Amino acid sequence: MNIRTRFAPSPTGFLHIGGLRTALYCYLWAKHNDGDYLLRIEDTDRTRYVEGSVENLINALEFCGVKHDEGPMLKDGKVVEIGDKGPYFQSDRLDIYKKYINKLLDEGKAYYCFCDKERLDKLREEQVQNKQTPKYDGKCKNISREEAERRIKNGESYVIRMALPENEDITFYDEVRGEVTINTNDVDEQVLIKADGFPTYHFAVVVDDHLMDVNYVIRGEEWLVSTPKHIILYNYLGWEAPKFAHLPTVLNKNKKKLSKRHDSVAVEDFIQKGYLPEALINYIALLGWSDPEGKEILSMDELIRDFDISRVTKAGAVFDTEKLNWVNAHYIKEKSNEELIALIKPYLLKENLVNDDVSDETMEYIVEAIKDKLNYLEESIELTKELYLKANLDELDDKAKEIMDMETNETLFENLISLFEQEKKLTPEIVSKSLKSIQKEFKIKGKALYMPTRIAISGIMHGADLTYILSILGKDEVVERLKKALNYIK
Ligand code: GLU
Repeated sequence: MNIRTRFAPSPTGFLHIGGLRTALYCYLWAKHNDGDYLLRIEDTDRTRYVEGSVENLINALEFCGVKHDEGPMLKDGKVVEIGDKGPYFQSDRLDIYKKYINKLLDEGKAYYCFCDKERLDKLREEQVQNKQTPKYDGKCKNISREEAERRIKNGESYVIRMALPENEDITFYDEVRGEVTINTNDVDEQVLIKADGFPTYHFAVVVDDHLMDVNYVIRGEEWLVSTPKHIILYNYLGWEAPKFAHLPTVLNKNKKKLSKRHDSVAVEDFIQKGYLPEALINYIALLGWSDPEGKEILSMDELIRDFDISRVTKAGAVFDTEKLNWVNAHYIKEKSNEELIALIKPYLLKENLVNDDVSDETMEYIVEAIKDKLNYLEESIELTKELYLKANLDELDDKAKEIMDMETNETLFENLISLFEQEKKLTPEIVSKSLKSIQKEFKIKGKALYMPTRIAISGIMHGADLTYILSILGKDEVVERLKKALNYIK
């Protein structure tokens, strides 16, 4: 069987970390099985629609390398639909839903309901008070088709609900949770078509998954309780139900559902902070799935090869930023300096830490000086600021003052100045050679070389490799700062 999976987000804003995990698992499972993965936009709730969110979503998925075979794609900034099972936007499929709802109405498997909000609210309130599960009480179920059509002609507002058999166990197999049974008495007679004529998610999802030949539905576990309704609809329409796999909820550190109020959840924010696509994918794949050999660093190809839906856990998966940082730092360290320069430069330009005409050499020194400390690219801003820190000799702390009192400092600074002045420019090699020659000639020990020099330049006791810092600041600036320090100690 050719596996077909789909990611079916609602365009309500941004791509959520949990959404990326669903998309990734759909993609991995399809590709593991040489199957197809499609993207469908579930935009039937017009009140929640956010302009631009489809573009954002496609961009974020593309950035992460989770590429769909069918569905809306971006071409020159415009959305185009690829594939022969479209349209892939539910709002463009209203005629299709109409056809199937009529079939259900004709067969008595769905009915018109005229109950207004007031009645439904009151009913709900009573049920909650009586500790019953709130659900529709079937008041309109026995209205004849003729009467219903007459009332509709008269302009009454209505919805269409699915009719459920009473007290029937619905059993289905979930690939993650095993067998699940729910009695129809615990299921609501779900609205299938809303008063605005749009289908609800529950109706559209069944019709679309069937017509788009989706045979593997992978989605968040919040949809598990809705699945019996979907199974009944498949039965009503005479269709074979797909396989289902409901993924564990993504939790925060406090084991609560990751939420946009308390946590960072937007994939775009992570991208902006400078998490690399390979790191995001790698880490997110581990939220609910683990490699059989316990490997924690896996490329997309390895994930495709090793991913197995049967290894997805039932327990909630905790999103741990520190672990993500660790994975990201790993991939940052694997980059060449050239790649890192291209990645970091936009952050530094934005903060005016470097200019457009900054030399590759300087950029290389910056990268060398900070790369081992980077968890994500945005941190390059603070780390680079530190490289440019300028000593304020009047405000040194006691420890730094003590070091500036060392007897050898005058010789050190004088000789550094004269050696540097002879050079055309400073490079890490020149800086280190100069320090070494002073060390040899005047028998000044390592600590007494580096500490005072660092304080003279930056005013701090510890930091990135000094040879890079001096090369980044450049000969003139360094000599000027050393001269100031010389004056200060004299
Ligand atoms: N539109 C639903 C959502 O945004 C999709 C649920 C499903 O995959 O069936 O969560």
